[in-house]
Amino acid sequence: MRISFKLKLILSYFFLIFISLGFVAFFLDKNLEEKALQEIKTSLINESRLIESIISNNPAALNSPEYLDKISKDLGSRIKSRITILNITGKVLADSEVSLQQALNLESHLGRPEVAKALKGKIGEEIRYSSTLKIDMLYLAVPIKENGVNAGILRLALPLTSVQKVLFAVRKTIIIGLFFTLGLAFVLASVLAKTLIKPINRIIYISSKFSQGDFSRRIFQSSNDEIGLLAATLNKMAQDIEEKIREVATKNQHLEAIFNSMIEGVIVTDESSRVISINHAIESLFDAKGAAIEGKFFLEGIRNSEISELINNAMNSAKLISKEVTLIMPVQRVVQVNVSPIFQQDKVTGSVIVIHDITEIRRLETMRRDFVANVSHELKTPLTSIKGFVETLLEGAAEDRENRINFLKIINNHVDRLSNLINDLLELSHIESKEIELLKNRFDLSSLVDEVVMGNKSQARKKGVEIKSDLPQGLEILADSGKIEQVLVNLVNNAIKYNKDKGFVRIYSEQLADTIKIVVEDSGSGIPAKDIPRIFERFYRVDKARSRELGGTGLGLSIVKHIIELHSGSVGVESVEGLGSKFWFTIPNLI
Ligand code: ADP
Repeated sequence: MRISFKLKLILSYFFLIFISLGFVAFFLDKNLEEKALQEIKTSLINESRLIESIISNNPAALNSPEYLDKISKDLGSRIKSRITILNITGKVLADSEVSLQQALNLESHLGRPEVAKALKGKIGEEIRYSSTLKIDMLYLAVPIKENGVNAGILRLALPLTSVQKVLFAVRKTIIIGLFFTLGLAFVLASVLAKTLIKPINRIIYISSKFSQGDFSRRIFQSSNDEIGLLAATLNKMAQDIEEKIREVATKNQHLEAIFNSMIEGVIVTDESSRVISINHAIESLFDAKGAAIEGKFFLEGIRNSEISELINNAMNSAKLISKEVTLIMPVQRVVQVNVSPIFQQDKVTGSVIVIHDITEIRRLETMRRDFVANVSHELKTPLTSIKGFVETLLEGAAEDRENRINFLKIINNHVDRLSNLINDLLELSHIESKEIELLKNRFDLSSLVDEVVMGNKSQARKKGVEIKSDLPQGLEILADSGKIEQVLVNLVNNAIKYNKDKGFVRIYSEQLADTIKIVVEDSGSGIPAKDIPRIFERFYRVDKARSRELGGTGLGLSIVKHIIELHSGSVGVESVEGLGSKFWFTIPNLI
């Protein structure tokens, strides 16, 4: 059971007043009782002296029981006390409460303490319970002197009922007074406690708001006493906490912003590998929402056993662990994973996992390696041939005119190939370099296409390929005409090169929403579906031997792609193997 502070306060007051009044009442009672008894004793002594003097003035009195009987009964009724007269042997000579006969037959009173004391010449007194009357009695005995010698004993007995009656009345008044005072004290204590408790209740109410996180409230400080000081201290504390919370919140916001804008994915776990938080990069890397991962065990949320093992190793060894991991889901990616344990007083309490997506770096590395290998290979083939033919010539073949001419023609072809390759490589590196500037101007695309068609007419004629342009006259675009010409030359060249005998090449345009699409269609060999996604890569060729034989470098389409992308357009191909291809590119409309 909870006893409120107010009740405790009231009870304390109550208890204090009760104890103090109790003490007062107790001592008062004790004092009164003693005083009353003393009073009675004094009057009994006086009375006994008086009776003793009456008896001792009559010399024959002690020898006349009838006289003593008369006197005791007479005086006893007057002073409302029992009078007993004894001789010095303790024998009863007369008693005011019994007949003379009975009195003479009573047993010796010598054994009574008050009588014994009186025999020694002193005043004997005692309070004793009378078994005959069943009440407390006050006994007082004095010696009766005859010529200065003890001749008998006079004993007075007074029932104490009257004293007790008086005391009872006094006690009753005291107790009533006590209860009345206590009642009054209770009422006053309640009022006082209420006044005292009011500011405390206010403090409790506002403190409960603090505990709920509302630090905007302040406790009204009505006094400068201890409670007022407590209120002031709590107000100060709330203000400090509010400021601290604001500071922490701002810091948190900054950290959150940094955390979420990081390119690296970050995961924080606790000591049981439960995910505490992740950043946006992790959400996109694993294609999952934070809510689906946070709060779960790492393996439940992210389902990558390799990284999970790294986390366990890092936490067990209390060391940073790094490893390159290949993610399969949702898309294949190569990531660098660094797991650092979090320490709190030398104890590992979690881990921070930083995941760096290095797919692009690895891809570029592979591309660079492939490119170097491809270039070396492309250069090596014609160079080996040239060296072979030059050596043969040096060994004597040069003597023979026919051989000499033939070999020199072959060498010339290879040199052309080398020079084409170097030109294409230079062109490509120029386009890929960030420094290139497009010389954009408005020009008539249909005229440019006509020129390209004209330039390739003789080559087409050799293969019996018919080539024509269906572009509408006066189709103007805003672009670098020199570069667009190169695109058209590369596409038309390929369309003729990879065409069949008596095939056709058609160039036409389509007006789309915000771009113009130019299509170079041919009736050639077409491209197998599996090669289409890679056809625009450098050195990618469907049929390497055929391409080389036709003087191709494998860089034409790559150059096309780069030029079009520089113009913010796109390139593509639709092709059916054996039927032909449609290579297309788009250029944004004139604005
Ligand atoms: P290449 O110098 O070998 O022609 P490209 O980059 O121009 O280099 O072309 C790459 C490869 O694409 C070619 O080797 C060829 O296999 C294929 N290709 C290009 N254009 C066509 C086309 N119109 N029809 C069929 N295949 C083509």
